[in-house]
Amino acid sequence: MVDADQTFVIVGGGLAGAKAAETLRTEGFTGRVILICDERDHPYERPPLSKGYLLGKEERDSVFVHEPAWYARHDIELHLGQTVDAVDRAAKTVRFGEDGTTVRYDKLLLATGAEPRRLDIPGTDLAGVHHLRRLAHAERLKGVLTSLGRDNGHLVIAGAGWIGLEIAAAARQYGAEVTVVHRGPTPLHSVLGPELGQLFADLHRRHGVRFHFGATLTEITGQDGMVFAARTDDGEEHPAHAVLAAIGAAPRTSLAEAAGLRLADRADGGGVLVDERLRTSDPDIHAAGDVASFPHALFGTRLRVEHWANALNGGPAAARAMLGRDEIYDRVPYFFTDQYDLGMEYSGWAPAGSYDQVVIRGDAGKREFIAFWVREGRVLAGMNVNVWDVTDPIQQLIRSRTRVDTEALADPHVPLDSLVA
Ligand SMILES: Cc1cc2nc3c(=O)[nH]c(=O)nc-3n(C[C@H](O)[C@H](O)[C@H](O)COP(=O)(O)OP(=O)(O)OC[C@H]3O[C@@H](n4cnc5c(N)ncnc54)[C@H](O)[C@@H]3O)c2cc1C
Repeated sequence: MVDADQTFVIVGGGLAGAKAAETLRTEGFTGRVILICDERDHPYERPPLSKGYLLGKEERDSVFVHEPAWYARHDIELHLGQTVDAVDRAAKTVRFGEDGTTVRYDKLLLATGAEPRRLDIPGTDLAGVHHLRRLAHAERLKGVLTSLGRDNGHLVIAGAGWIGLEIAAAARQYGAEVTVVHRGPTPLHSVLGPELGQLFADLHRRHGVRFHFGATLTEITGQDGMVFAARTDDGEEHPAHAVLAAIGAAPRTSLAEAAGLRLADRADGGGVLVDERLRTSDPDIHAAGDVASFPHALFGTRLRVEHWANALNGGPAAARAMLGRDEIYDRVPYFFTDQYDLGMEYSGWAPAGSYDQVVIRGDAGKREFIAFWVREGRVLAGMNVNVWDVTDPIQQLIRSRTRVDTEALADPHVPLDSLVA
């Protein structure tokens, strides 16, 4: 039973944690809500860090989930700059901060997110090697891109995933020379496959980005402690004044692991294992956002989704579950990106090997189209590029599992919602 005597603790003040705190209050929870985060900034959203904020088009204030005064106004006890280093499940306590403050919980939410993978090669300790996860990283990177642009400097980016490509776009807009080194044969190869990956390669080449595919960085060389060049495993050397590692993120599971909670297999993307109500192997502990691996009935598999919408919706879903609401979390995964003049949204889940056809509706040459990943006539995922207000019908097509006529799917004159059974 939920009442004013209860204490709900949230570890991690990213979007999932902040939205969970908000939901507890909007759902009428009157007990203590304690939100603890190791970052010093109030909870903020990360997408602008590689787009509008990095480009100087969005103000710092615009990235925050709530204005600072919101927390006190809603009686959320916010502890910033404090790390939770232990969860005692028997005593139902968490320990945090340098003085080892202990607080008892009735329900606990782990929203600890993910952290960037580091390059494990010689030279990563040189000044000029960067990664991007936090607001402070974005602030630093902004300064780096400004000086690279001014001095005609070279940026080498390791990884042509979403973040690597967004930073490549930003760096070109600052005027920096950019080389992207990527292990796969096209950007985003594992997410989009070769057809659509090529479209992103063309887009970036048109804006002056150089790609080195099928290679990995093996060493960053320096001069006077500063980055000088980046070497790859095929013996090439790229001039570099700065290197950015964008080689993915790993879920922050150490707290959960030390507490003896079950983790998902690495082959399934790792993360804290939760059920469809975002409950971990301990019924009083939930997990949401980037760190949670949840079963998705529609796709018949476990998913760990490192996207904004999953934090935005998963945090609140976990909060309602903590309050005892019986709700299954089964959102269709959704993601967006902006690069130069290309804006796109992607819904669904279609990893390599899961689809047998890619259907294009519209003009891919003009970069105004929708791509559908289809298996046996059923849409698994859809990506709209510079075409808007189609997320709902795309998600309905995915959710309904309708077998569609792929010619009609490819025909922009056939309304998408008319294809949903
Ligand atoms: C640069 C960048 C750009 C992105 N762009 C997009 C985009 O365009 N579209 C999109 O869909 N998604 C995007 N994402 C992904 C999206 O931002 C994430 O999916 C989202 O931030 C996940 O939110 P979260 O709350 O689960 O985790 P996080 O945002 O990682 O927050 C977790 C918080 O918990 C803290 N924490 C961890 N462990 C502890 C501990 N033991 N004690 C205290 N605090 C702890 C962390 O420091 C962090 O502050 C982007 C991500 C980045 C980094």
